[in-house]
Amino acid sequence: MLPEVILEFKKQFPSMLENELLSKHTNMRIGGPAALFFSAAVPGDLIKAVSLARSQGVAWTVLGGGSNVLASNDGFDGLVVQPAFRDIKLRQQTVTAEAGAITSSVARQTAEAGLAGLEWAVGVPGTIGGAVFGNAGCYGGEIKDNLVSVDCLRLSDMKPAVYPAADCGLGYRTSRFKREPHVILRATFKLTPGDPEQLKHRIEEIMRQRKEKQPLEHGSAGCMFKNFIFKDEGELDRLKRDVKNIPAQMLERKSISAGWLVEQAGLLGEKIGDAQVSDKHGNFIVNLGHARAQDVLMLTSKIKMKIRDEYDIMLEDEVQLLGF
Ligand SMILES: Cc1cc2nc3c(=O)[nH]c(=O)nc-3n(C[C@H](O)[C@H](O)[C@H](O)COP(=O)(O)OP(=O)(O)OC[C@H]3O[C@@H](n4cnc5c(N)ncnc54)[C@H](O)[C@@H]3O)c2cc1C
Repeated sequence: MLPEVILEFKKQFPSMLENELLSKHTNMRIGGPAALFFSAAVPGDLIKAVSLARSQGVAWTVLGGGSNVLASNDGFDGLVVQPAFRDIKLRQQTVTAEAGAITSSVARQTAEAGLAGLEWAVGVPGTIGGAVFGNAGCYGGEIKDNLVSVDCLRLSDMKPAVYPAADCGLGYRTSRFKREPHVILRATFKLTPGDPEQLKHRIEEIMRQRKEKQPLEHGSAGCMFKNFIFKDEGELDRLKRDVKNIPAQMLERKSISAGWLVEQAGLLGEKIGDAQVSDKHGNFIVNLGHARAQDVLMLTSKIKMKIRDEYDIMLEDEVQLLGF
């Protein structure tokens, strides 16, 4: 980025950081420097910074908690904005969380207040903005189930917009925000009354299961691939021929776990550099210490090729790339 452009940003936003390592902001602990990094305390500052980037022709992107991102070791020659507005407001059975609110805090606070619906999210790292972006979900719940509306900045006309949930295009790990550029500013959810003690137990149980099943001791970006959803009986017959012993619950859900496929293909523990397929969970690639983004990408492509060749299934990425 040109020095005079950097100066212009720094003049307007003195707290903006230069050459900030993205590895400090991603759960994978991988990523080179962002030319400019701005943690915006209020939505207005974030909007101003994005407007300036657009007027200066500077590439920019939003980073939430960095828990679903693989950032290039070459970094990002542009502006990374991070919503640091994290307010969570409860009103009767409604909760409104700003984009930077930590998803697990929203889950805990609502459960403590006797509101049911977001307990599943207690172990999902990152922010509400990121969770809405990818329609995060697990343990039988997803953002879509309780979302009422999303307030955002629409990039096509740089206008604020409020979308009811039905207009957010939410589906399995997807939303309209993946297809049309927006900055998510806050999200509102409608919950139902629940017993705080029961909700607390549910949360504890979810956390226990996560610790048991996921390699939380290492950096990762969560699930690397989407599960494979099959569409019709014809495809099911074909799968039953190609993939042996598919568990009944996957057949019922019409969704074959990508982690299970990786395990069946004998890829647990597979390693390139310091990037390794977790031996606890086949859909996690962990950073053993000094993994590079290229190692992770080579490993994901090795997995995809093997699954394609053995099972005729093309796995889709769940993780988002930054700086490639
Ligand atoms: C250990 C572990 C476990 C996980 N378990 C789950 C799970 O059970 N279920 C699940 O769904 N996911 C899971 N994930 C993945 C990840 O935590 C979720 O996708 C999470 O919601 C991402 O939020 P984030 O704030 O970290 O987003 P980031 O990783 O920072 O960003 C992800 C994408 O969202 C975009 N984005 C972020 N904030 C905004 C915003 N305000 N406006 C517009 N775009 C935005 C970014 O540009 C990027 O493209 C897991 C990850 C880890 C590391």
